[in-house]
Amino acid sequence: AFDVLVVGGGPAGAAAAIYAARKGIRTGVVAERFGGQVLDTMAIENFISVSHTDGPKLAVALEEHVKAYDVDIMNLQRAEKLVPARLPGGLAELHLANGAVLKAKSIVLATGARWRQMNVPGENEYRNKGVAYCPHCDGPLFKGKRVAVIGGGNSGVEAAIDLAGIVAQVTLIEFDSKLRADAVLVAKLNSLPNVKVITSALTTEVRGDGTRVTGLSYKDRNTDNIHQLDLEGIFVQIGLMPNTEWLKDAVALSPRGEIEVDHRGATSQPGVFAAGDATTVPYKQIVIAMGEGSKASLSAFDYLIRLAPA
Ligand code: FAD
Repeated sequence: AFDVLVVGGGPAGAAAAIYAARKGIRTGVVAERFGGQVLDTMAIENFISVSHTDGPKLAVALEEHVKAYDVDIMNLQRAEKLVPARLPGGLAELHLANGAVLKAKSIVLATGARWRQMNVPGENEYRNKGVAYCPHCDGPLFKGKRVAVIGGGNSGVEAAIDLAGIVAQVTLIEFDSKLRADAVLVAKLNSLPNVKVITSALTTEVRGDGTRVTGLSYKDRNTDNIHQLDLEGIFVQIGLMPNTEWLKDAVALSPRGEIEVDHRGATSQPGVFAAGDATTVPYKQIVIAMGEGSKASLSAFDYLIRLAPA
């Protein structure tokens, strides 16, 4: 059996694996796609101490760093079910889609999240070429330009307020007839001179010149008329979905499906820890996921040394 079995090979899972392996304990990583969301990222400018890198490069570096240790990496494997230990100090079982069952004294869940997409023509084609999902990551790339934010919930309105301080003009597009964000955020948004809000609007297309985004089309849901906006960037803020559907019977999840963790990364099940975008920890960022992965792994080690000798 593994001492620590990590599920997920993004920044959180890689950090957890390295911290566990450095304790000299038996460590494994199961990942559907080693690298995680980092693989889908182009410019990364907030990985502290590295002023500029890109996703594919960071993903390779993550894997190489993990491979420098004695870690059993099971890439391209999807976990389907977690059965926590039945007795305190017992073994948890991780069931894989390929039928294998792995056993471990402790588990670190780091399955990350995915951004909900608009599913309109042009969105995938111009991803990282004007279509962005993370204002903390990509906001500065649009300094002095015109952007749209899609979604008028809290994350969309927060993004619009944030971006208004960096870009020239923000247009917030909401499907509903009114914004769904907290009143205090909406008041703040309405006080900003360079933000325009369009409600009852359905984005229908991302337009571009073959290289970059040049605008978007939306349908006014009251009149069914199609309108065009010219702009350089589109931030899609219609939800971040944690990859935790398979865990709902195993550990406590928040109403949004995030794994509930305490400040040590412990979940509702003894011996099961979690880290990164899949959890309730706020601000979904690479450096935060790495810190949380390290922390969850140290907590797992702390749990292991307190188990009764076999
Ligand atoms: P993830 O990176 O999502 O990794 C999850 C891992 O779990 C993957 O290996 C996945 O395959 C695996 N997995 C999922 N389900 C299963 C399963 N059932 N079984 C086995 N494995 C599973 N952050 C920044 O700090 N700076 C940026 O510039 C930046 N830009 C971004 C740009 C884009 C386009 C996107 C999408 C995100 C960006 N982020 C950025 C956010 C950052 O990528 C995430 O916060 C970070 O990757 C989260 O790490 P994680 O390890 O928690 O999850």
